[in-house]
Amino acid sequence: MATAIITGSARGIGAAIALRLAKDGYDIALNDIAESCFENNDIMDRIKALGVKCEKYIADVSKYDQCEAFVKNVKADFGSIDVLVNNAGITRDGLIARMSEENYDLVVAVNQKSVFNMTKFAGSVMMKQRSGRIINLASVAGLYGNAGQMNYSATKAAIIGMTKTTAKELGSRNVTCNAVAPGFIKTAMTDALPDEAKQAILGMIAMKRYGEVDEIAGVVSFLASPDASYVTGQVIEISGGLSM
Ligand code: NAP
Repeated sequence: MATAIITGSARGIGAAIALRLAKDGYDIALNDIAESCFENNDIMDRIKALGVKCEKYIADVSKYDQCEAFVKNVKADFGSIDVLVNNAGITRDGLIARMSEENYDLVVAVNQKSVFNMTKFAGSVMMKQRSGRIINLASVAGLYGNAGQMNYSATKAAIIGMTKTTAKELGSRNVTCNAVAPGFIKTAMTDALPDEAKQAILGMIAMKRYGEVDEIAGVVSFLASPDASYVTGQVIEISGGLSM
């Protein structure tokens, strides 16, 4: 049985990806930063009900040592690591003039350094296996920028460069790496936006609606599937036509 790791998967897009990959037949290694993220939360039960194995690993993916231990434990528990989805991410929005150094550094650590940490350790397992799929969560903010998100857009643009670098370094070992760049998807992250901003955003989307988490999970499922075996180093925008 093949195994998928999804970081930050107690809720939101990560949980939807975990469920979808479980439906596709993967055993699932869930992750989040604290045990409390899984309280009052049925994600593990829903995945296990699909007949696959599922374990949760508490790790702060911004921390190098925690990622090393996390990947080692998954390899020991499941035997292989076939898919890594670097999904964990946070926002700490504010205009440049008002953004604190602390909030800049925190977003870089969680959104960007985590991708280095997890790709290094899980990628090493995949290279030895001579197979693997890495899928990174970028964002339209990384493609086009977004006022109030210098920290966040920096990390999401960086993830695009990291995706292409990973594709070039690991390609010869049959490990692909691609990114998805969601637009505005209904989750806690976008719920936090002020109503005015939500209305303004709708006006910019060709399809005139926010995306659903399952619409991200479906594209991730494709990138993990045999149909995407010759796709690497690409960024797929999933935004309902935000940028046209
Ligand atoms: P979300 O609902 O806030 O979920 C993110 C998850 O990551 C949460 O469970 C969170 O835990 C966890 N997490 C945060 N810091 C972590 C850490 N250091 N280590 C491990 N886990 C951590 O966000 P989402 O909307 O599903 O977003 C998922 C990904 O998609 C992110 O990378 C985001 O940037 C990207 N994205 C989202 C949208 C959108 O419209 N929602 C658009 C573009 C891109 P807590 O519950 O403790 O916070």
